[in-house]
Amino acid sequence: MELVFATRNKNKIFEIQQLLPQHMTLLSLDDIGCFTDISETAQTLQGNARLKADHVTQNYGLACFADDTGLMVDFLNGAPGVHSARYAGEHHNAEANMDKLLREMKGAKDRSAHFATAIALNHKGETTFFEGTVHGSITHQKKGEMGFGYDPVFLPSGYDKTFAQLPLAIKNNISHRGKAFLKLITHLSHVEN
Ligand code: IMP
Repeated sequence: MELVFATRNKNKIFEIQQLLPQHMTLLSLDDIGCFTDISETAQTLQGNARLKADHVTQNYGLACFADDTGLMVDFLNGAPGVHSARYAGEHHNAEANMDKLLREMKGAKDRSAHFATAIALNHKGETTFFEGTVHGSITHQKKGEMGFGYDPVFLPSGYDKTFAQLPLAIKNNISHRGKAFLKLITHLSHVEN
């Protein structure tokens, strides 16, 4: 089965490929020749995921899923949330986003936060949503070289290493996206059988 993952993020494609059964072939936006910058103008993670999946299904007629992730920090009343990618500006710079977050959190005692991922799947004329969350806290400084995005400042609950210090297999097991994708894959295997 061929399925489009509406992303250009090579880290995500790599992460998800590890979780997919062999009979499912994952295609990226580049693989299908979609070079449009699909706008994420919704006010929710679900809404943005749906916008991206719908763009592909409507324009290319292919089964597609898309995800949207946010980092919700309690001390910041849920910010950066749905605006996580552009927290420090339009340029999507992970270092600048983390620097801004650490500045905003200076002196904060409550450092609890969670990642949430929403996935929208368009398959056989229906849209289905899947969600996953991981709770943890924001560190005082960046630690680790692996992963991407806010990984160096996120310490998952029950671990003494940030996402950027943990092997990908462990991150996938406990992460927001890993949990949401497991639900997606379970759903797909029932649909196919
Ligand atoms: P997106 O919805 O996947 O584009 O992600 C929104 C923002 O959250 C971007 O700034 C990403 O870098 C960040 N992000 C998404 N997933 C992760 C993750 O697994 N770890 C750290 N940051 C992430």
